[in-house]
Amino acid sequence: MSKVFLKKGRDASLKRFHPWVFSGAVSGVEGELFEGELVSVFSFDNEFLGCGHFQKGSITVRILAFDDSPYKQGFWNDRLEEAYKTREQLCIMEEGKTNSFRLVHGEGDMLPGLVLDYYNGVVVMQAHSAGMVKSKEQIVDALKFVLKDKLLAVYDKSSATAPFKAGLDLQDGFLYQEKGVLQSGVILENGLAFNVDWLEGQKTGFFLDQRENRELVRRYAKGKGVLNLFCYTGGFSVYALSGGASFVDSVDSSARAIEMTTKNLELNMKEGASVSHNEYCADAIDFLKNSQDNKYDMIIVDPPAFAKHRDALRNALRAYQRLNANAISKVSKGGIIFTFSCSQIVDKVSFAEAVFSAAAISGRRVRIIGRMTQPADHPVNIYHPEGEYLKGLVLRVD
Ligand code: SAH
Repeated sequence: MSKVFLKKGRDASLKRFHPWVFSGAVSGVEGELFEGELVSVFSFDNEFLGCGHFQKGSITVRILAFDDSPYKQGFWNDRLEEAYKTREQLCIMEEGKTNSFRLVHGEGDMLPGLVLDYYNGVVVMQAHSAGMVKSKEQIVDALKFVLKDKLLAVYDKSSATAPFKAGLDLQDGFLYQEKGVLQSGVILENGLAFNVDWLEGQKTGFFLDQRENRELVRRYAKGKGVLNLFCYTGGFSVYALSGGASFVDSVDSSARAIEMTTKNLELNMKEGASVSHNEYCADAIDFLKNSQDNKYDMIIVDPPAFAKHRDALRNALRAYQRLNANAISKVSKGGIIFTFSCSQIVDKVSFAEAVFSAAAISGRRVRIIGRMTQPADHPVNIYHPEGEYLKGLVLRVD
């Protein structure tokens, strides 16, 4: 068992259950440390604080437990069972309505570096740390133990998320597969159907984190002309049409995303019904600027993370401000805007400030009629508030 010792006085955050040990807090080590290895962390005074995955870099240890349970048999089964039971308690799954959810959300499930999404039997895994890449086998075994016949396949998609390549087995592929499991599948969310491509899609294939916000879009969409910017798989577009929107325009710069949007609209089309939908493979910002004033009564603005690192924060805030100012200027009188940020380093206060200045630039009267976040299957560890990454505002523009 290798040991990491902290500098004097640097044990406070761990004692408050924050799950990261930063390299600057480490005073020394005992034993040889390997990337992704389980190590124990001690205070300067030799007090055992917890154990977790070691990784060179600014976050040196990602804590798995504040006791020694990760060294013991049954750790992975227990931890995944806990995650699954939490999801059962949330009652997300509903026969004939919803069959997909996030099973593990990193620090929110005390499994830093691990994301597992459950798509109607197929679990897609993305490991963000060396320790999780190296724990693949234990994770698959635990998934079989916990999900039993509810598990059809486990697809590992960590090549895009792993922190580095050297020494890690990063061949994407099925780690477990029952006969006949396809490369993609159709899932249900709130009674609507979506094709999920876990092989080629972004992240794990679908943005499950917008489930409840999409439902809100459906509620407000009746009779509205809707613009869905950064539509990806067309989730918001499908919900808006299902809620009775008079027409929907979907925009994404990726041709593949536009293809998926079309496919998902077809999946949900009632026989014989005609849908007023147009898709545009275009830059969302240019499209918005060139669009007709007052054409849209509802605009959805869900861009990719503008800032991935702290040094990009200022530019990201300015980009949110510009984008939202354009949306606020364009929307019809009495129109509604759903605006989001999924950048982890942009907190909800800074995001609200960016939207506030956007409103001020537009010179229109704007009211906040809703605040949105990530759903309960993306829990936030209260000791790790950084885990609250998705935030959004519903605006009514007079
Ligand atoms: N709203 C989507 C998720 C958006 S992900 C959902 O509910 O599932 C971000 C999307 O923005 C991606 O599909 C990406 O292709 C697209 N994108 C990135 N930059 C863009 C740009 N400048 N213009 C239009 N689309 C862009």
